[in-house]
Amino acid sequence: MVAGLDEKLEPIYQDVLRRNPGETEFHQAVREVLESLGPVLVRYPEFAEHKIIQRICEPERQIIFRVPWQDDQGHTHINRAFRVEFNSALGPYKGGMRFHPSVYLGIIKFLGFEQIFKNALTGLPIGGGKGGSDFDPKGRSDAEIMRFCQSLMTELYRYLGEHTDVPAGDIGVGQREIGYLFGQYKRITNRYESGVLTGKGLDWGGSRARTEATGYGTVFFLEEMLKARSKSLVGKTCVVSGSGNVAIYAIEKIRELGGKVIACSDSNGVILDEKGIDLELLKEIKEIERRRVKVYVERRPGSTYVEDGVIWDIPCDVALPCATQNELTGKDARTLVANGCIAVAEGANMPTTPEGVRIFLDAGVAFGPGKAANAGGVSTSALEMQQNASRDSWSFEHTEERLREIMVNIHRTCYETADEFGQPGNYVVGANTAGFLKVGRAMVAMGLI
Ligand code: GLU
Repeated sequence: MVAGLDEKLEPIYQDVLRRNPGETEFHQAVREVLESLGPVLVRYPEFAEHKIIQRICEPERQIIFRVPWQDDQGHTHINRAFRVEFNSALGPYKGGMRFHPSVYLGIIKFLGFEQIFKNALTGLPIGGGKGGSDFDPKGRSDAEIMRFCQSLMTELYRYLGEHTDVPAGDIGVGQREIGYLFGQYKRITNRYESGVLTGKGLDWGGSRARTEATGYGTVFFLEEMLKARSKSLVGKTCVVSGSGNVAIYAIEKIRELGGKVIACSDSNGVILDEKGIDLELLKEIKEIERRRVKVYVERRPGSTYVEDGVIWDIPCDVALPCATQNELTGKDARTLVANGCIAVAEGANMPTTPEGVRIFLDAGVAFGPGKAANAGGVSTSALEMQQNASRDSWSFEHTEERLREIMVNIHRTCYETADEFGQPGNYVVGANTAGFLKVGRAMVAMGLI
């Protein structure tokens, strides 16, 4: 079942479909935001008058380029890379780079579109952008990754700048890749411009807690949702999909706050460990050895691995999708609700399908959409930019405390905005409305640009 759009919004959405053919993830992300905005247009007619929604749906600039590189055997490869500079009403374009074979313009545009509202919700001065490439880093040597990153930056550098566009990581891009990208930017421009990339290493301008930030932030948001219902994480059984950066640090924070994570996954299969995931072992496999999760069961007695398993079939109190878009379907949502799941916080971007979201909301599950719940990563990137601008370096404790405050504020903003617009407890409406209002007001103020 697809919810209807407001009559003023339907033609805008039809135009987005017509002008961006085949970009299904982008269509999905736009529709999800538009579904929240009917009442906003009624209350604030200036947004329609200034065509703010039409303007927000059209990126300010889209860059597509060829990335040629050589593998260790001397064979030549050609990839395609993107940087979509979506909206700069609130600050320089900010958002990660994704390296994954599934990447095409529609994925980068959905991510960039989400990023506008997410970044607005952080309350920090950052606009929205996103980039990436269809390059597959799986099985590539460090030298191959380096050559690819250098080739990509040789084109991308001309569009970047600490006041213009500031990329970071996403799927397939971590500190190693940011290092190669930063090195090449520094070499080409002859500038040590720390604030041009975030997610850097601690020795060369990175922020403490950036690696942990997305996962920790998602759990802080989850904790606030539970608190609002007079509940807590203590004693809760959780499942966390994925086993990358976001999943690992979500698991760490859940454990610290008294919950128990019994399952995680990768794109090949699911690990179930009823005693609770051994985080040190998982980190060793994923962060140091860079191997697949199935190795876990060889070293952890009592745990099981299901090839192609569905993690959402495992009964739990709390579910955190932290892998990728559309990984949790309507069918999965039904299973989770039937098994008594009370809260879902999205660590990934748009991991729940529209049908899944509707099922959670109808069932009264506390549902934290990604653009609110996973905003801790980009928030800490903005804190990294602050430290770079003042040539300062904060302690882990201070940075984590700032992150926590930001997540508590995002939760409060979404909660109060949902209430104000007559949808109490609906964080989807709260996040979309609050994010849109902030960007929309800035766009009106700045005139037709
Ligand atoms: N890729 C992350 C996100 O989806 C982080 C972006 C950033 O730090 O700029 O928000």
